[in-house]
Amino acid sequence: MLDFIIVGQGIAGSMLSWFLLKANQKILVLDRFNPSSATYVASGITNPITGRRFVKTWLADDIIPFAENTYNECERIFNERFLQALPIIRLFDSIKAQNDWSTRCATPEYLRYLKNESIVYLDKQKIKNDFGGFEINGGSRLDTGKFLTSYRTFLKQKSLLSDEAFDSSEFKTEAGSISYKNIKARKIIFCEGAAALQNPYFKFLPFMPAKGECLTVKIPNFYGDRIISAEAFIMPLINKDEYYIGSTHQWNFHDALPSEEGKNELMGNLSAILNAHYEIIGQSAAIRPTVKDRRPLIGFHPEHENIGIFNGMGTKGISLAPYFAKHFVRHMIEQTDLMKEIDIRRFLS
Ligand SMILES: Cc1cc2nc3c(=O)[nH]c(=O)nc-3n(C[C@H](O)[C@H](O)[C@H](O)COP(=O)(O)OP(=O)(O)OC[C@H]3O[C@@H](n4cnc5c(N)ncnc54)[C@H](O)[C@@H]3O)c2cc1C
Repeated sequence: MLDFIIVGQGIAGSMLSWFLLKANQKILVLDRFNPSSATYVASGITNPITGRRFVKTWLADDIIPFAENTYNECERIFNERFLQALPIIRLFDSIKAQNDWSTRCATPEYLRYLKNESIVYLDKQKIKNDFGGFEINGGSRLDTGKFLTSYRTFLKQKSLLSDEAFDSSEFKTEAGSISYKNIKARKIIFCEGAAALQNPYFKFLPFMPAKGECLTVKIPNFYGDRIISAEAFIMPLINKDEYYIGSTHQWNFHDALPSEEGKNELMGNLSAILNAHYEIIGQSAAIRPTVKDRRPLIGFHPEHENIGIFNGMGTKGISLAPYFAKHFVRHMIEQTDLMKEIDIRRFLS
């Protein structure tokens, strides 16, 4: 009998299966390969200071170093590079924003993530930055496509991955175990990303999925060594002169496909800051598994104790998934408590 079946191999299922393997658990991952999953489409940034008001990311001091150490360990084991440290230049849009920031940043809590307190100005021929910006240290970029592909190969070589869509008609729960086709396991954990909206066991969870679209563009002679974040963010890709332009947040949508509306919004945001010429060479879209209270959804079904969920990574799966995968595995193996903010029982009245 297996210990766990994991459904989904986005960043959530990858990290959960990784820490279960490290805890010597017998697992099988079921995943229907989908190059339009949120993880594939994501820019892959870990950023300690985010949002319109430049606030420190929830649990940044813990989750970001943990994520980097985990991805670095995977790099060593798979003998590949996935993670690139990249400074992030966050531009101000007014004198007020500049002043507010100067007051707030002079605290140890923020200073540890800044190169220094001075305001940075970029080349105005390339980018509009009348009010300058500040430089965030401690950001990085995971090449999510490369990571998922390498990890998938690793699982396949060990016969731990089946490339298939989970078929609910082949699934049964029994006392103390579950069965799927002819496989028995102690537990099943769903890591389906936004597809969890169709999972009949977790209908009570308040997912608020957000579609995100992005562009790939060519910009000759631009900043290839940093991420620039303002109306749009501009992130250098591996190929010379290629950049990822992200990303939209649409709450009302009909499908997960790239749209004209998404493209126009991104082009508008880019024109608001870019002075250099650019050429669009690609567009992608995916659905983020976002939650009403913006916290992960982790735990077991209130009536079916063998059916679990590891989801709700929202807009920050790359930073959150490693830390909370380890946290969940410790809960399952060592019976440690789940943090209240992420436990799905917060939605049971
Ligand atoms: C445009 C965009 C940009 C983003 N940028 C960032 C960023 O810079 N930094 C960051 O931290 N986060 C970012 N995110 C958010 C991040 O992508 C998500 O938080 C994260 O990828 C969610 O991972 P997941 O594993 O839960 O879901 P997914 O990546 O969607 O993975 C789910 C997997 O489960 C599989 N699956 C689903 N149902 C079944 C089934 N029934 N049977 C078999 N397999 C199934 C799918 O095929 C898929 O492989 C971004 C998202 C978008 C859309």
